[in-house]
Order: sequence, then C-alpha cells, then structure tokens
Amino acid sequence: MILLKDIERPIIISGPCSAETEEQVHETARRLKETGKVHVLRAGIWKPRTRPNAFEGIGEPGLKWLMDASIATGIPAITEVANANHTQLALKAGFRKLWIGARTTVNPFTVQEIAESVKGEKDLEILVKNPVNPDLNLWIGGIERFMQMGIENVHAVHRGFSSFKSKKYRNEPMWEIPIALKGEFPNMKLLCDPSHICGNRTLLAEVSQKAIDLIYDGLMIETHISPDEAWSDAQQQITPEQLSKLLSDLIIRKEYSADADFKKNLEVLRIEINSIDQDLLNLLIKRMQVVQQIGKYKGENQITILQPQRWEDIKATHIVLAREAGLSDAFIEKYLEAIHLESIRLQTRVMNDK
Ligand code: PEP
Ligand code: MN
Repeated sequence: MILLKDIERPIIISGPCSAETEEQVHETARRLKETGKVHVLRAGIWKPRTRPNAFEGIGEPGLKWLMDASIATGIPAITEVANANHTQLALKAGFRKLWIGARTTVNPFTVQEIAESVKGEKDLEILVKNPVNPDLNLWIGGIERFMQMGIENVHAVHRGFSSFKSKKYRNEPMWEIPIALKGEFPNMKLLCDPSHICGNRTLLAEVSQKAIDLIYDGLMIETHISPDEAWSDAQQQITPEQLSKLLSDLIIRKEYSADADFKKNLEVLRIEINSIDQDLLNLLIKRMQVVQQIGKYKGENQITILQPQRWEDIKATHIVLAREAGLSDAFIEKYLEAIHLESIRLQTRVMNDK
C-alpha cells in the first residue's frame, strides 16, 4: 500500500479526465508507466458536468478497468466519488484512494454523507479538491469532515476557482487561498491540478512550475492517448509522453539547503528584509497619524473625507513609477487600495469623535 505521505516530492497523479473505454484506460496506464514518473493513476468515472447532456462518465464498469490497469502497471489508482453510493462501489472494487471533486466540496451535506460512509476506513486516502467558489472555510470544512471520521490521510488538491469572466485561466488560481489552507494543515499534502486551472494545455508548464516553486507536494495532470478526441476536457489534456517532457523540464527547488554559505547569505538578505519591513511599518504608522490630523482638520471645516480626484492622481503617479521598477499594476492598485481604505476608516473615526 503506497501512501502519498511516503512518496518523495513531487507526487505525480495522472490519467485521463474520464475513463472512456477499457482500451483507452489500459493504454494510458501503460504509457504513463513507461514514463517512470507517475505515482498514482487517475480517471473520472462519474463526471459531475456543468450542463446536462454532456458525457457524465462511464459509471460502474469503469471501476474495474481502472483497477485492472492499476494491477497491470503496479500504479495505485484514484477516482472521484460524488456521493455515498459511488464511494461504496469504489471501495468494493478495491480503491484505497478517492478524490472529492470541486462541485462536491461545495455541498456540506454530500461531503458529510461520503465521510460517514468511509468512517474508520484504515489506510484510505481522501483528496479534497477546493470548492468551485473561493471559500477557504468550505474547503477546510470538507477536509475536517473526513478527519472527524477517523481518516488519517486527508490531502488537498488546488484546482482553481470559477468566475463569471475568467481571463487567462479556466479557473482562477487565487494562490493565496491554498497557501492559507497549508497554514491550517501544515502536515497535509497539498497538490496542484494545473489542468483544471488552465483549461488549455499551453499554460500547464507555467502553472506547474509555479506550484512547485510554492512548495506544493505534487501535481495532478490529465493525460489522454489522443487528447483532441477526449470525451471531456479535450483542450487541457496532453499525451503521457508530453507529460513526461513537462515533468523533466520542471525545476524542482528545495525548501531548505544545508549548505553553510547559502544559509549565511540568505540570512544576511533576510535581516535586510526584516529591517525594510520595520521601516515600512513605521512609515505607515506615521502616514496614518498625518491622515488623522487631516481628518480632524476636514471635520472642523466641514469637508468630505472622500476626494476622488486627488486619489486618482495619487494612483496614477504611483502606477507609473512602480511599473518602471517592474512591479505589477495589480499589486500597486491593491496596495494603494488597502492604504486608502484604512485612511478612510481612521478619518471617519476622528471626524465623528465628539
Ligand atoms: C476532474 O478532475 O476531472 C474534475 C472533474 O475536476 P474538478 O472537480 O476539479 O472540476
Ligand atoms: Mn477533467
């Protein structure tokens, strides 16, 4: 029994979005085995699709195909379960790894039902994908429901968050959410699913590298023997051979180095950063003191707090300067917005202070 916690980083889970035919599952598994880089074989058997009449998965017969392919290659299998009935069928077929999909994690009753149906199952591994909406607590709750049922090996998969108008990605990564989740469960494995974040194969390498650089423990990437003909998620799938190339090209940086020189140099830079952070904070405090003086002055002269034109001018000059230094507009806007909101809050307080 191979547990994720015993696999050396990065853990690689791969296989088709959906099991389509017995041959497709076996051929994918065989070619993934040949790469020598895949630890867990995935395939969706029940597919919760967004719109009706889309392919909703091959259902129960697929369990045996995936299990047989797993036995033939020696690579453990994982599939998605979306209710307690699926879960029982998968356990009966011999699965010891299951994932909860993004459309299931959003529903606490369903997650609870699945969790109760696996209560006390030893050596069962459950991977909980993030909910489709960017709600950290809902994700945490899904994980806790399994932990409460005595499942020791619960892990998380980050597949991005849907939005009405996605630009670059199919599902916005919102990296700060999985990073906060990791903070809640430091010993849990956190995997990234670049396939569902990207929605197209061209971005896979970039997002995979980013996840590795953020010290994710592994990746779940969809592969298909003929990606363009896949019955679901065709644009984002790649062949097992393309996966192999993508993985070879990844730069796996370590979190720590034992090298004494490296440690010393890093320490020097960190001391510098700490001191800059201290300066930044002191300046912010000083700024907010002046803000309060202005608030008081405006209050005495019956002037409004919000002066939109002045704020737009500040923003414009900052963005130009920051852009020249290579900082993103998005960052500067967010930073200024935070300062502005805090300034308004403080001014409102002093103005209304009788
Ligand atoms: C999948 O892994 O094929 C899948 C349906 O993922 P998600 O639940 O992330 O949409
Ligand atoms: Mn998919």
